[in-house]
Amino acid sequence: MASEAAAQMNFQTMEHPAPMPIDQRTQVLLTPGFGTQFTDHMVSIEWSDTRGWHNGVIGPRHPIQLDPAAAVLHYAQEIFEGLKAYRHPDGTAALFRPEANAKRFNDSARRMAMPELPEEMFLEAIRLLVEKDNGWIPEEEGSSLYLRPFMFASEAFLGVRPAKRYKFLVIASPAGNYFKSGAPAVSIWVSSDYTRAAPGGTGAAKCGGNYAASLVPQAEAIERGHDQVVFLDAAERKWIEELGGMNLFFVFDDGRVLTPALTGTILPGITRNSLITLLREEGLTVEEGRYSLEQWREDATTGKLVETFACGTAAVVTAVGRVSGHDGEFTIGTGGPGQLTQKMKDRLTGIQRGLVADSHGWVKKLG
Ligand SMILES: *Cc1c(COP(=O)(O)O)cnc(C)c1O
Repeated sequence: MASEAAAQMNFQTMEHPAPMPIDQRTQVLLTPGFGTQFTDHMVSIEWSDTRGWHNGVIGPRHPIQLDPAAAVLHYAQEIFEGLKAYRHPDGTAALFRPEANAKRFNDSARRMAMPELPEEMFLEAIRLLVEKDNGWIPEEEGSSLYLRPFMFASEAFLGVRPAKRYKFLVIASPAGNYFKSGAPAVSIWVSSDYTRAAPGGTGAAKCGGNYAASLVPQAEAIERGHDQVVFLDAAERKWIEELGGMNLFFVFDDGRVLTPALTGTILPGITRNSLITLLREEGLTVEEGRYSLEQWREDATTGKLVETFACGTAAVVTAVGRVSGHDGEFTIGTGGPGQLTQKMKDRLTGIQRGLVADSHGWVKKLG
């Protein structure tokens, strides 16, 4: 089993024989899109029940071989994280709260009966990759290097029990604006036929399975001319939970802000957590509680609700302008981004990019 001593990993380094030529990379970084381009390297670490974490390698990014009976392909033991490396004005690279990702990764691992990865090993893997592929961090405002750590069950076994072998990998992808349109506000569809997570389920774990389950309702949202789907709670189909991959905040005319409480069916976003802190610093009252679809519609109509925004690492802070469901449509504020949404987006991205003082120790400079 993994011992305390094994928290240290001596990563083997393998040089890339043919990294992308610099002029070609420069072209890619001008319009990186989201999730379509990848850097030259990756990190991998293996786990087995007899050896614990071993065989850490940073080397050329390459396809991985899997046995057709690999447990992940059958029973979906898979978890992931998402965080970004930013280029600061002084030329250094910086991460935003990577320890929070390391910790959440292990929360997800426990829920999916997977081995925990020592937080220091998770952080070291990320540092190594960002150092190696430092030249892949785009410099344009709004762009960054998106890091995707993930773990899956690689054991070849069709019986149903936690696997005895896993792989942990980190890949990186230069990222521009998440929403292709760069839309100032997104429109969302309230799913009444599907839910994302039920009490006792895996809603608070960052696992691929949650996303698989959200694809049909997301496709339904697109079909109906919306950008994103919002889910209601599974028990009463009444309370607003979150989008497929972003948390929500509701802003009222009296300076109150509400975000759905972490009841186990909502993913505890690091952006969400950071914004609660930043909003309180603005002197606003932030409540974590329940908010019904019915109340949302009423408050938007009377003007009591002035803004709604969604947040997450990929799309940062995005205004919600329009909401539709089976029983009609309503607009929030003017339908565009409100003042507080814009302000919080600027605050948060300012901190992340090294333009605004970081008084919370959130930013980790890598040099
Ligand atoms: C990752 C994720 C979020 C946002 O989390 P951040 O840590 O802010 O990136 C929100 N909802 C779901 C379902 C997620 O998977």
